Parts: sequence; C-alpha cells; structure tokens
Amino acid sequence: MSETTYDLVIIGAGPAGYVGAVRAAQLGLRVACVEKEPELGGTCLQVGCIPSKALLDSSERYHETLHGLKAHGIAVSGVELDLPAMMARKSKIVAKLSQEIPVLFKKHGIEHSYGTAGLVEPGVVRVDGEQQSTIRSRHILIATGSVPAGLPGIEWQERIGTSTEALAFPEVPRRLIVIGGGAIGLELGSVWRRLGAEVTVLEYLDHILPGSDAEIAQLALRAFKKQRIGFKLEARVQSAVVENDECIVRYNDTEELRGDRVLVAVGRRPLTDGLNLAAVGIDTDGRGFIPVDRQFQTKVPGIYAVGDVIGGALLAHKASQEAIACVEQIATGVGWVNYDTLPNVVYTAPEVAGVGQTEEQLVQNNVPFQKGQFVFRSNGRARILGQTEGVIKILAHQQTDRVLGVHIIGPRAGDLIAEASVAMEYGASSEDIARAWHAHPSLAETIKEAALDVDSRALHA
Ligand code: FAD
Ligand code: AMP
Repeated sequence: MSETTYDLVIIGAGPAGYVGAVRAAQLGLRVACVEKEPELGGTCLQVGCIPSKALLDSSERYHETLHGLKAHGIAVSGVELDLPAMMARKSKIVAKLSQEIPVLFKKHGIEHSYGTAGLVEPGVVRVDGEQQSTIRSRHILIATGSVPAGLPGIEWQERIGTSTEALAFPEVPRRLIVIGGGAIGLELGSVWRRLGAEVTVLEYLDHILPGSDAEIAQLALRAFKKQRIGFKLEARVQSAVVENDECIVRYNDTEELRGDRVLVAVGRRPLTDGLNLAAVGIDTDGRGFIPVDRQFQTKVPGIYAVGDVIGGALLAHKASQEAIACVEQIATGVGWVNYDTLPNVVYTAPEVAGVGQTEEQLVQNNVPFQKGQFVFRSNGRARILGQTEGVIKILAHQQTDRVLGVHIIGPRAGDLIAEASVAMEYGASSEDIARAWHAHPSLAETIKEAALDVDSRALHA
C-alpha cells in the first residue's frame, strides 16, 4: 500500500473535477485527482454534452441535406444514412478530447489516480484501483457528479435505457418513446427523429422544458410538433416492459403506448455510491445531494463538494465554475459563483436558451419589468440561413432598466445567450445593449433589436 500527501485531492474527473484540478495547480497547490473510469472527462465528455451535440450536429446535416438544400438551389439524390460512420465520428471526437485531459494533468503536475475513491476520515482517501492506495491531503473535493435517474416500475434492459444507450443505438428505431420532456429527452428525441424514427415524448407536466420561460417553452413545443415529434403531456408514466418483442409504456393508469425502444430521461440523481460519506459524518439531503455552504464546504471542515453532486442546475459549465471558485477559495480565501447569470441551453433546432429570471418569476416576485422582443424572421442573417423560426425577449427592470432575464428560441440561441450573460454579469441596462455595436448582418442584431424594443423603438419591427 503506497501513501502520498497532497494539498488537495479531487474525487472525480468530470468538468468539475478536472477543471478544478487544473485551476488548483495553477494556484500552486499540489493536487491529485482520482477517477474510477479509465477515461477522464466525466459524464459531460463521455456520455453527455459532447457526444449528444456531435449527434445533434450530424443528424441536423443529414436532415438538412434531405430537406433543406432544395431551397438553396442544390439538388441531391441518393442520400444515405451511414449510422456506424456517424457513431464513429462521435466516438472519435470524444476520444480526442479525452486524450487531452491527461496532457493537461501532466502539464500542470497533477497526479492522476485510477480507481474508486472512498473517504476514510478527514484528510484521508482510499483508492480501490488496480492496487489499493491511500492518499493523504489537507483538503478533499468531492466532484462525483450524477447518473441517470430511474423510475419505479421500470427496469433497465436492452431496449429500455437511458441517455447513454440512446447515444449509441445500433439502428434507427422505428418508434422511439421518450419519457421526460426536459433537455436530454428533447435533444436525443430530436436526433432520432431527424434520422427517421417516429418519436413520442411522454411528459408528466402540462408543459415541456420545466424551469424555462413559459412563453419560450410553449413556442418550443409548437416547433417540435411541426417536426412531427409527438407529445403526450400530463402523462404520468408508471411502467415500461418488453412483451412479444415490443416495448409497452403504461401511463395515467389506463393508457399505453407501444414502441421499439424507450429512452427514460426523467432527470439525474447524484452519485455518492461508495464514497463512504457516513464515515466522516456527511449526510445527504432528501434527494441524495451533498449539502454545502457558500464556500462549497460540507459540514466537515476540509471536505468540499461541487458540481452535479451538490444539485442546482445540472450543467457542465456550472460544475466547472463551482470547482474553480472552490479551489480559489481554498488557495486564496476568495472564490465566488454568480448563479444569477448562469445560462442554460437546449441544443435542439431551434435552440432554446435562457439566463436570469423568467417572466413568471418576475411576476411572482412582484418585480416591475418592461419586455422587449424581436422575431428572427425580421433578421437578415436568419433569412440568409433559412432559419427564421423563433424570438428573443429581454426583460428589464421598469425603473432602473437593468437586464433581469433574456430568453431565446431561435438559431444559435446557445451562442447568442453568451452576450446576455456577459451583459448581465456587468449589470448592463437594456439601453447599454441597444447602444453597443452588433455587426451586420448577424443573428446578434436580434439582441440589439430586442433591447431597443424594451423602449418600444426596435428599428426593423
Ligand atoms: P460528472 O461529469 O458526472 O463527473 C463525475 C466523475 O466522477 C465521473 O467521471 C465519475 O466516474 C467519477 N466518480 C464518481 N464517483 C467516484 C468515486 N467514488 N471515485 C472516483 N471517481 C468517481 N450539461 C451542459 O452544460 N450542457 C450540455 O449540453 C449537456 N448535455 C448533456 C447531455 C446528456 C445526454 C447528459 C447525460 C448530460 C448533459 N449535461 C450537459 C450535463 C453535464 O454532463 C453534467 O452537468 C456535468 O457532467 C456534471 O459535471 P460533474 O463534474 O459534476 O460530474
Ligand atoms: P430534466 O430534469 O430537465 O432532465 O427533465 C426530466 C423531465 O421528466 C421533467 O420534465 C419531468 O417532469 C419528467 N418526468 C419525471 N417523471 C416522469 C414520469 N413518471 N412520467 C413522465 N415524465 C416524467
């Protein structure tokens, strides 16, 4: 059994863990990072953000080639889907990015330890890998992330699985049933719809994309229905089974839907299995997340947690930002995350993105606000791209004009939202955004126009 002493040991090498390790090393800490999987990068890189966006991009090109090129005066014939090649491209992107993390670790002198980590006592972590080892460290950072949540009444099997399976179906299912109308269900549902599957989404609530601005979620639902994705709202799924080579999903006591594959996308649960939290006296909350204070410290001094495992928005950039703030706090005494400007993106077509408060939240909190909006069909660049569906809206305080929320459905909403996030980080008013330069012709001009519309002076509406 070998033993080494560090300033910081990080458990998990997802976007929280590996980014936190790099930042801590930059600040001069001696860092070890333990990861139970052979490849680094966590959910985001291995089975999340990156492979899903790779498939979204490929499937969008396939769909565009089949249905969108004619309008550009391009005639194509004999278009064929080569699914194994599409999957291989996705895997190659993942592999390439995975290989870069050990290089970063080496560059920054971060010790990478392969194995499952468990807490022994404050300052001591045991690693069960090829050999068993003990790491001693002044600080411990838990960044073990999350895994797909299941549903009572559903057992995982070959044709009833999670996003991980839906990222690698061996063939296009004829009928795909998606349980859950959140980001993951809608993104992967879109992939398989574009590749030819008949897709039906079952959602428990009376709307999709919970947490999004209601008007934007409503427009998203309309857009997806136009793509002939089927929706059954207020559908409480109770079971899913395979009978006679068919998947049968039962919901609302009496109803059922039949399909060839089922994707269960009802959220994610924190991963604390094997961490041995009880050994150091850390309790999880009712949903299994690890409670932390504003410095990301658990109730045990010297043990911290960040990313999906502490809850909040389960997003990669949120996980990374928390890890950075946490290690900066450890190394310098100052570290801070501003959740008010955290953007959220759904990479469907059109994309859906938001930052700050929704219209409903402002109404509920009695905040007086002005709303400015602009539709993409009035934007030159959107017309050029042939992607005119969507709207951007800016919510600004009625008295101060400070921007409180920006919500977009439209082409490249996920990129456009960055301007809104930065503007809000600097406390911008809608007037500030309206007066700033926006190149022509660009999609970003929609933001300027929506900002002008807060004061009812949009120029192209
Ligand atoms: P994780 O990425 O889950 O990493 C935790 C790591 O800890 C894992 O590698 C795990 O193996 C390791 N680990 C766990 N326990 C132990 C242990 N005991 N010992 C050693 N190692 C351990 N987010 C976005 O922001 N944008 C997106 O577009 C997006 N798309 C997504 C698409 C899908 C299909 C999915 C599933 C998720 C998506 N997410 C997206 C969410 C994003 O992947 C997560 O929010 C992010 O990965 C969380 O980072 P993390 O570091 O906290 O945890
Ligand atoms: P998210 O948490 O954003 O990944 O979204 C998960 C979605 O699944 C939410 O919209 C939930 O309302 C939905 N959901 C959760 N449980 C069920 C269920 N039993 N049947 C149908 N939808 C569900």
